[in-house]
Amino acid sequence: MCERTVTAVRGRNRIYTAAAAALLLFAGACGAVREAEKSVFAMDTVVTVKAYGDRCGEAVNAAADRLTELERRLSATDADSDIGRLNAAGSAAVSGDTAEVVSRALELCGSTDGALDITIYPVVRAWGFTTGEYRVPSDDELAAALGMTGYGSVSVNGGTVSVPPGRMLDLGACAKGYASGEMLKAMSELGITSALVNIGGNVHALGSKPDGTDWTVGIADPFSPNELLGKLKISGCAVVTSGGYQRYFKDDAGNVYIHIIDPATGRPADSGLVSVTVIGGDGLLCDALSTALFVMGRERAEAYLRGHGGFDMILVTDGGVIAVTEGIADSFENVSGMPVEIIYE
Ligand code: ADP
Ligand code: MG
Repeated sequence: MCERTVTAVRGRNRIYTAAAAALLLFAGACGAVREAEKSVFAMDTVVTVKAYGDRCGEAVNAAADRLTELERRLSATDADSDIGRLNAAGSAAVSGDTAEVVSRALELCGSTDGALDITIYPVVRAWGFTTGEYRVPSDDELAAALGMTGYGSVSVNGGTVSVPPGRMLDLGACAKGYASGEMLKAMSELGITSALVNIGGNVHALGSKPDGTDWTVGIADPFSPNELLGKLKISGCAVVTSGGYQRYFKDDAGNVYIHIIDPATGRPADSGLVSVTVIGGDGLLCDALSTALFVMGRERAEAYLRGHGGFDMILVTDGGVIAVTEGIADSFENVSGMPVEIIYE
């Protein structure tokens, strides 16, 4: 953690003129905001948290502790986590966090008609995405794995989650979004009003920058991921991108297989989109929808937006078109050479 502190002249002169007071305030506005930053590795990615104002050092530690706690509860690859125990036993008493994430995720599995499916784990595993030992499963193996999926079979009863024998949960598409929101909550409880969390590209802002202006979030160019597609100005919301370029492998023939699976086929999503960014106030919703809308493709994504609302999005098609919802069109600066279309709700 690196904590920088530039303290304003404090309490030495009890009596000062109005002009001097104004100067002190000015110094406060320009250079006296305390700032703390911490980076950790969690949820299989690099996580950075920044907080501003009094107690910022304490706040970034509290946020990191909360993240560690959530990872211990939600990780599918940790045998001792709530999800690890559930996947091994078919039923488990879980923490309030896990029950909440599973319940909210199940609602989104339903509203997206199964484009999001938190029981997709056997299929993700068949492709080797859980271990990094990538392979193309045979049709029979894929059919067997798909037979072990279906979010409708998951039940949450108070603090107990149950699945039929052999079924497994994977919260990989929404855990980071829930975590970023909880990290901001932990900081806000300490009185922080300006903070930014970045979980491997899942960005979530508490309030605005300390000077009151918007944060600028870079959106990666899916065709050239080290370069920017555009910049988005936001305050107090999550910006979550799902892209085929984030994790994939190629077979000997050069075919590309991405880590976002279409639960209807068990194969990597092939919907004509190369990246989906969802912007909204709720981290879990944005994370879950970035994955689901990627699976759905542009037409279904737009229909979902019109039917449900509550978020904005930036879609990039494999034909090189950027489609941006009207709600954020003015906040998005396109720095790519691609054309931008506006999506009207
Ligand atoms: P990332 O976590 O890499 O940023 P996503 O949020 O899009 O990307 O989540 C992708 C992860 O979610 C995959 O690695 C896999 O574990 C899981 N997953 C893949 N396809 C689906 C799906 N259709 N529904 C739910 N989870 C999925
Ligand atoms: Mg996601």
